[in-house]
Amino acid sequence: MRILVIEDEPKIARAIKQGLELKGYVVDSVYDGDDGLAYAKDSVYDLIVLDRMLPGSKDGVEICKILREEKNSVPIIMLTARGTLGDKVEGLNAGADDYLVKPFAFDELIARVRALLRRPKQNINNKLDVGPLSLDSLNYTVTRDNKIINLTHKEFMLLEYLMRHPKQVVTKEMIIDHVWNEESDILLNTVEVYIGYLRKKLEDQDQFKNSEPIIKTKRGFGYILDC
Ligand code: CA
Repeated sequence: MRILVIEDEPKIARAIKQGLELKGYVVDSVYDGDDGLAYAKDSVYDLIVLDRMLPGSKDGVEICKILREEKNSVPIIMLTARGTLGDKVEGLNAGADDYLVKPFAFDELIARVRALLRRPKQNINNKLDVGPLSLDSLNYTVTRDNKIINLTHKEFMLLEYLMRHPKQVVTKEMIIDHVWNEESDILLNTVEVYIGYLRKKLEDQDQFKNSEPIIKTKRGFGYILDC
């Protein structure tokens, strides 16, 4: 899952980025309203943490309004130093999904991020189920037919991304955008290598040998999780 943090105070921005990365999210940071809006329009993000007061020609409320007017439904958590009722209502009316008043406990931000990320699919307990696969993004566990599959962190993030887009073609570029940080130089064949690791663990074990492959290659396009 890839998150955009639009926050002008470097200390807070850094703390949010580091904290979210520790929880396994891929995070990009920008520091003013103009960059914020330009990045936010890129559909690569699964969620935006948006400060209300920002330098530049757009503040958080305006960014929110513009995105919603453009039918962009990316989940948005708005941050603000002010917490009066009027401010909250203004933020929510502008289209923010949630609102957090500074200073906030990082755990609360994480809980709200998780709640918003699972909202579209109406999942409870941070669980994703696709065919025989089950993934718990809180405990980092994966099972196939109730048998535990041990994955590395990157393998887990890759599978989570595939499971959020089942029966759709996802390209290697989409996978890189959502599973790796932009500062890392990831080659397309690194994705192939990781898909290979996942297949080995999800498909090649003795008890699954007779089943259909679940990660299918669509030559020239990408991969489909089909199970
Ligand atoms: Ca600010």
